[in-house]
Amino acid sequence: MSFLYDKSLSEIRSLLLAKELTVTEVVEACLKRIEETEPSVQALISVQAEEALEQARAMDEAGPNESKPLWGIPLTVKDLLCTKGTKTTCGSKILENFEPFYDAFAVAKLKEAGAVIIGKANMDEFAMGSSTENSAYKATKNPWDLNKVPGGSSGGSAACVTASQAFGSLGTDTGGSIRQPASLCGCVGLKPTYGLVSRRGMVAYGSSLDQIGPMTRSVEDNARLLQVIAGHDEKDSTSVDAPAADYLAALNRTDLKGLNVGLPKEFWAEGLDGEVESACRAAVAKLEELGAELVEVELPHSSYAIATYYIIAMAEASSNLARFDGVRYGYRSDEAENLLDIYVKSRSKGFGDEVQRRIMLGTYVLSSGYYDAYYKKAAQVRRLIREDYLKALEQCDVLVGPASPVTAWNVGELTSDPLKMYLMDIYTISLNLAGLPGLSLPVGLGADSNMPVGLQLLGKEFDEATLYSVASLLEEKTEQLGTPAGL
Ligand code: GLN
Repeated sequence: MSFLYDKSLSEIRSLLLAKELTVTEVVEACLKRIEETEPSVQALISVQAEEALEQARAMDEAGPNESKPLWGIPLTVKDLLCTKGTKTTCGSKILENFEPFYDAFAVAKLKEAGAVIIGKANMDEFAMGSSTENSAYKATKNPWDLNKVPGGSSGGSAACVTASQAFGSLGTDTGGSIRQPASLCGCVGLKPTYGLVSRRGMVAYGSSLDQIGPMTRSVEDNARLLQVIAGHDEKDSTSVDAPAADYLAALNRTDLKGLNVGLPKEFWAEGLDGEVESACRAAVAKLEELGAELVEVELPHSSYAIATYYIIAMAEASSNLARFDGVRYGYRSDEAENLLDIYVKSRSKGFGDEVQRRIMLGTYVLSSGYYDAYYKKAAQVRRLIREDYLKALEQCDVLVGPASPVTAWNVGELTSDPLKMYLMDIYTISLNLAGLPGLSLPVGLGADSNMPVGLQLLGKEFDEATLYSVASLLEEKTEQLGTPAGL
């Protein structure tokens, strides 16, 4: 039996436009689903039920508006995207009561397109983590097995979409935080090319790496969201001044003849779990059946990616997080006796352990005695990693590999070992260093764990359209995962 909340964004859109459903009915169905599943899944930091219902009633009164691509569609956004007048906590105590006075560019675009924002999704504090256990508020659970993590840092968005609490969500990806939770929860997640989606109004983590992107239950839904949020923003100097491509048109491709698919040999090597490898290889075989030509390629600097990423991301984070000083934003310790005390006490109490660890390490690698040895070296290696990708993508149109070396692990399993947690990002972070787009598509359940496995497609700069063509054909050939077993 198919429930209203289980339908795809595209189906709901048609039903709303045909007046077979009202926006109020759709919003109510999602709110009811949230009520049922939230006690166990814990995907959301806040729910804007009243505001959403009020908006829905006004929209119903005005009647359907076909020119708005997301008219009446309930969505959520990760809680580091500013929402005007609605708390934006970033998963941190330090921003517990922060109410932005403007919408992030991407949120404003969703609203202009007619979407109804019903909730703010849980996340690792300041997007630092791979399991959504670093949130100051709650640990989100994987809808496929409530004893397992949903991945992170956009684990709230992934779990919310997989549990059908909303028809899509925006996450952010600095080193894999869209693709990895999408893979662990079994939904579709796209990290766009750096510069395609404006970062204005997103609380910054690693500014040269961060990108906002859609998380949905289908490839078509994903393309619909990207179409709305992509495009130039003159108020973000890193936003590219070029029109977005037609992502929906990319879904019309009927085969993959003439397409070269590269298999980076470093992605299919030691460290990759057997069940993930078999599910991903089976999906690659389908690409071949669809007419694609497989080519083996090399990314020789891959083994430096984790070290390079964590130096750069922490350096940028230490600088970005300097603004949370107890004076301008959020939490201020009331035990402080002088200015320095305000900084020290507010930051010590307001930030969690992982954030403090990263600020310290980031400050260290930027300090004058160590800058050349760490930060500068990392910046140089980053260039080599990007060149590896560009070279590989000269020989093929897309690259494929797993999104995560394992399926979802147990809650609490890695929290005391940050290094092991960092290693979980092995297949996602180099793409952020290179600035390229990547998509994770569910391709099956692991034979041993029965947990979702995601295949990662990596593309050329601003060629999200090709990622969508390949993903949508592969999706058609793949048996749908169905209802998450944990719910
Ligand atoms: N797990 C990585 C980190 O902790 C990536 C996080 C992200 O993409 N936001 O930095």
